This record gives sequence, C-alpha cells and structure tokens, in this order.
Amino acid sequence: MKNMKIEKAEKLGLCFGVRRAIKLLEEAANKYGEIETLGPLAHNRLLVESLAKLGVRPINHPDQSHGRILAITTHGAGPAVLSEIRARHIHIIDTTCPIVCKAQNAAEELADAGFDVFIFGDEKHSEVKGLLGWAGDKGIATLDMKQIVSSGKSPSRLGIISQTTQTQTDFIKFAKQLIDMFGPKIDEMRLVNTLCKVTQGQQEAAIRLARRSQLMIVIGGSNSANARHLVEICSPLVETHLVETADEVDTSWLEGKHHVSITAGASTPHETVEALIDKLKSL
Ligand code: SF4
Repeated sequence: MKNMKIEKAEKLGLCFGVRRAIKLLEEAANKYGEIETLGPLAHNRLLVESLAKLGVRPINHPDQSHGRILAITTHGAGPAVLSEIRARHIHIIDTTCPIVCKAQNAAEELADAGFDVFIFGDEKHSEVKGLLGWAGDKGIATLDMKQIVSSGKSPSRLGIISQTTQTQTDFIKFAKQLIDMFGPKIDEMRLVNTLCKVTQGQQEAAIRLARRSQLMIVIGGSNSANARHLVEICSPLVETHLVETADEVDTSWLEGKHHVSITAGASTPHETVEALIDKLKSL
C-alpha cells in the first residue's frame, strides 16, 4: 500500500439542500431550544447524531410530537401531512429542498391538469411519499414496470416525473418504457425533468473517477438513496464499496491497489470524508 494515490471526486458530499436545512435547524434550535423533525433530516446517521446534540430530534409521525415546533426535512411532505400538523397547532419549519419543491409542484400541476402522474422512484422513500401526496389519486410511483402493468392504468394524458436523486439513464429508460407500453393510447404527454442537478454532477464526477481508479469507496448512509446510486453506477466500472464511517474500511480491499478513489453521498458531512482520507493515509 506504499505510494498509494488517494483521489477525491471533483464533486462530492454535502449538497446545498442539506446545508440549507442544517442552517435552518441550527437557527431554530437556537431560538426555540428543542425541536423535532418529521423523519431524520437526511439519511445519514452521523449527521442526525450531530444535530441531536443541538436538540434536534426525529419523530416518525406528527402524533408522536411532544413539542410546539416540527421541521419538515429536505425530502418534503405531502399536503395531508402538512394539514395534520397544522390541525395540531404545531408550528412548521419547512426545510424542504427547493429542488424537491419543484418536483412537488410538477406533481401537483400535472395532476390538476388531468394527467396521470408516473413517478420514477422508490414508493417507500419519504420524498416519493410526499410527491404521491401532491399528485393525489392521479399518482403512481415505482421503480418496477411490472407494478405499472398490474395497476391497470391506461392513461391518455401521460405525466412523467422522477424522484430527484435517481440517475438520468434510468429515468430516460423508464420514460421510454412507458411510451412503448401506452404508445397508441396517449393523446398528450408531458415529462418534467425533476432530477437534481447536484446529484447528477456528483454521479458524473464519480463515473469519470471510477474509470481511472482501481477501487472506489463511497461514503454515506446505507439507507441514503443517492449514496446507493453512486455505488450502482461505479460498480460496473471498478470494485466499489459503501461505508458509513472510516472504521468500516476493510484493509483487504486495498491489497495490490495503487489508486484508490473516494466519493460521498449528498448528506455526508465534510468531516466524515476527511476522516476516511486520514484513515486511508494511515494504512
Ligand atoms: S440531493 Fe439535491 S434534491 Fe436532495 S437535498 Fe440535495 S440538492 Fe436537494
């Protein structure tokens, strides 16, 4: 492992949406003391733990709230959830990422205009649950075309959007499959590109780096959608591993390698990336 080159992707780690949310929560914690978030701020354990030290605590549902202040996370929430919180007279701090807001607006506008709204995304992910809420009974979300077949939907007006952190390649493939499936029945189609350009930039930088590396280490939460996508896109190019902390690096991965590269999910704090680099340097 002597003379091992360690290289970071040109674009990686904490995105502006998560930074903005952290700032809003820090200000709110200073002002109000303890506050709650509806779900973890982002899918990164270390980030959630560091916020907990400031008095920011996640809950799973508005009915678990003990406080007066509840923050909506970067992933956003649907209108029914927001109404429920207001009905409980709980003050909302909205940290929904502006890019997620754009996707929510697209879902609502397409549904209002009478389009069936096909959302390319993981229906169990909190962002996608919110998008489904804004699309109302016009929405369906999936990563699996079989689910669309079994839904029995047969739209004449086809609206297509994506969970913000999906890959461009997969979103285009999904849209093409929908057109192939419903082709002759479609009178009108609208595709709104709701992909996050920050995520795309990080994915493209990771691909460029993976092509010239012998090993990629992705650092991020195991339940983070964008960290998992970084692993998915790098894995076909080079040996790739996902770790949440530097301690999870297995030294056997480094044997015989002289060029090891790093990228990080959009909710991975800068210090976590630096700790990984320090660990690799120390080996
Ligand atoms: S990854 Fe993109 S959409 Fe998600 S919070 Fe960050 S900037 Fe917003």
